[in-house]
Amino acid sequence: MSTDAGESARVPTEALRRRTFAVISHPDAGKSTLTEALALYAERIDQAGAVHGKAGRRGVTSDWMEMERKRGISITSAVLQFSYRDHVVNLLDTPGHGDFSEDTYRVLAAVDAAVMLLDAAKGLEPQTLKLFDVCRARGIPVLTFVNKWDRPGREALELLDEVEQTIGLRPMPLTWPLGIAGHLRGLIECATGEFSRFTRTAGGATRAAVEVVPAAEIAAAEPEFWSAAQDELALLTEIGAGFDEKAFLAGTATPVLFGAALTGVGVARLLDALVDLAPAPEARDDATGTPRPLQAPMSGLVFKVQAGMDRSHRDRMAFVRICSGRFERGMVLTHAGTGRPFATKYAQAVFGQQRTTVEEAFPGDIVGLVNAGALRPGDTLYAADPVEFPAIPSFAPEHFAAVRGADAGSFKQFRRGIDQLDSEGVIQVLVSDLRGDQAPVLAAVGPLQFEVVLDRLENEFRAPARLEHLDFTVARRTDQAGAELLHGQSDVEVLTRRSDGVLLAVFSTKWRLENIRRKFPDATLDPLPAGS
Ligand code: GDP
Repeated sequence: MSTDAGESARVPTEALRRRTFAVISHPDAGKSTLTEALALYAERIDQAGAVHGKAGRRGVTSDWMEMERKRGISITSAVLQFSYRDHVVNLLDTPGHGDFSEDTYRVLAAVDAAVMLLDAAKGLEPQTLKLFDVCRARGIPVLTFVNKWDRPGREALELLDEVEQTIGLRPMPLTWPLGIAGHLRGLIECATGEFSRFTRTAGGATRAAVEVVPAAEIAAAEPEFWSAAQDELALLTEIGAGFDEKAFLAGTATPVLFGAALTGVGVARLLDALVDLAPAPEARDDATGTPRPLQAPMSGLVFKVQAGMDRSHRDRMAFVRICSGRFERGMVLTHAGTGRPFATKYAQAVFGQQRTTVEEAFPGDIVGLVNAGALRPGDTLYAADPVEFPAIPSFAPEHFAAVRGADAGSFKQFRRGIDQLDSEGVIQVLVSDLRGDQAPVLAAVGPLQFEVVLDRLENEFRAPARLEHLDFTVARRTDQAGAELLHGQSDVEVLTRRSDGVLLAVFSTKWRLENIRRKFPDATLDPLPAGS
């Protein structure tokens, strides 16, 4: 037996130790705070604030773009890996802003579970709903964390009811808050009744002290809150809200935890729930629907491609989720789309802004591959045994603009920039013979994507550009026959999406689309996956 075979034998055990997940939430619900707190509790970083670069906090992950800093939004995704209780936790960050929902969708293609983060005062907000829909469509099990319980908010039962009524996900509380929102005294463990009290610490900068307090003692100290909580817990028992693993894994029920990311309350409990309940990586279906066993030779899915992550590394990195086998730095993989070899000599782990060389990785882990010029989100890489995972669908764009280099002298840079942004999946690039390649059409799910393009063209490619907004709002997938039928119609244009060759018919309004549909009932006009 070669050493290789010996190393590969570790795959099932190593995969079992992995938990790979993302946090989905509406902006401001506390995703960055929770991310920091989780990493803090896993003792990977010793002071909250080292992960994201917001509002003067220390350390910066994703401020590689000036625009991002100005707007205070996170456009890029950080990948965090930390160990906790002999498990390896991979936390994939998702952009909070709805305009980048396509990126989030790709990240969700690379996780095995999600944490749905709710603000106790706000409950389910629009962006959370959209992201939850993606989880549901992909069958991703969801844990729910009700955050900011240290501040006035809604009632716990009312929030649970909202989750069940609005998205049809049955809540199964694991913990229950003692004290209404804004008067949090501690958490009760639903299954055992055990009560934990937290000692508040300023800003979550240090670990919140936790102490188990006997029921009689806390009942005497907080008689009103205690009896209210007991009534609520009795009600939960009555309606059968106990934990049901099958329903959780099937995505029909969600374990719910309460806490406050800012002060660290309930964060360690969430980590425990992730380790104990969230699924380990499993065999992933390939494009034909055949599962690729975990022990099969190495394979991975590219879910994100990003250039210029920080000023000292102006390269292009592809983030790959390992799906099967053992990844070893230096191995030569095959790019499923082209059959070309891909060398992995410079494989890296990205932790915030730091990068370290990765020597090996297992299913569930994320590896950053540099010099990834040929890779696009959705691509498969494999060793030895060929496989191709299903493509990640592109969303239906709703914003369109023709882009043109502002400076005739920098056309080459302009074209290179557009090519690169297209292949990173930052924007969809649509072309047609009619328009030529001087002014391709950019199509976006949200308008902020345009700003990213202009900013990067100017600062990264030295090709300042101008946008001319086009009056289209709806896109449908068509074919050659459809394109011929629609040719010459007003307020309609047919363009080719460069990344996948799909023909898109774009319309000024939904009414115009309906009108055309009636006029040409034989034209193929299929809806695309909706991103907003
Ligand atoms: P994101 O946009 O979802 O990443 O949200 P942030 O983590 O940036 O948090 C938004 C705001 O809510 C910040 O001012 C945080 O300090 C605050 N915040 C986050 N979690 C909590 C919490 O548990 N309690 C309180 N009181 N504030 C919180």
